[in-house]
Amino acid sequence: MSANILVVEDEPAIQELIAANLQHAGHRVLRAYDAEEASQLVRDVLPDVILLDWMLPGMSGVQFARRLRSEERTRDLPIIMLTARSDEHDKIAGLEAGADDYLTKPFSPRELLARINAVLRRRAPQMTEDLIEIEGLRLDPVTHRVFGDGQPLDLGPTEFRLLHFFMTHAERVHSRAQLLDQVWGDHVFVEERTVDVHIRRLRVSLEASGHDRLIQTVRGSGYRFSAHAE
Ligand code: CA
Repeated sequence: MSANILVVEDEPAIQELIAANLQHAGHRVLRAYDAEEASQLVRDVLPDVILLDWMLPGMSGVQFARRLRSEERTRDLPIIMLTARSDEHDKIAGLEAGADDYLTKPFSPRELLARINAVLRRRAPQMTEDLIEIEGLRLDPVTHRVFGDGQPLDLGPTEFRLLHFFMTHAERVHSRAQLLDQVWGDHVFVEERTVDVHIRRLRVSLEASGHDRLIQTVRGSGYRFSAHAE
């Protein structure tokens, strides 16, 4: 599993150590020294996970977590708080601010990676490698193959990611901006009509087994993957 991870940590040595470990494990790393820098990065590209230091210059990690939770676009962004404190009271404050998990420094790289995987599994199932099957449509993230009623279907890499996201978030309406954030990781530099182009291609790929019926256009809102007819 490879994710885009934003590390917000003001101590350069710790930031470097964490980034090196994450990159070694195959993740892509973005780095920020404070909440302001992190906000800029998040505005351009939505990461899959944020590792957020508690004690930061300016806005604290807890305040920043609270702000991310209060905004629609970042409400579901997985957050892991990093801290030197081990106090139970602080842990509760961090979790109440909206953190998904909590790591006390010093932690081992192995522990860090295990926590990241656990949070992704819970919050971003499209990042995991679990096989999914809905209505005879089967998607295997490990082999990158898709089958419709047992027949292999041919999908491009973007259509594959799009379908993976849809199947792990079925029955919900997603706007084009949300799909750009979740599938492309970018809602600033990619045009919204790009989504329509790839939806069209995805539907064509699914036509062979009739599963294109599962991709619904919701007028004025976006798209939905649904096992139920409209
Ligand atoms: Ca710090």
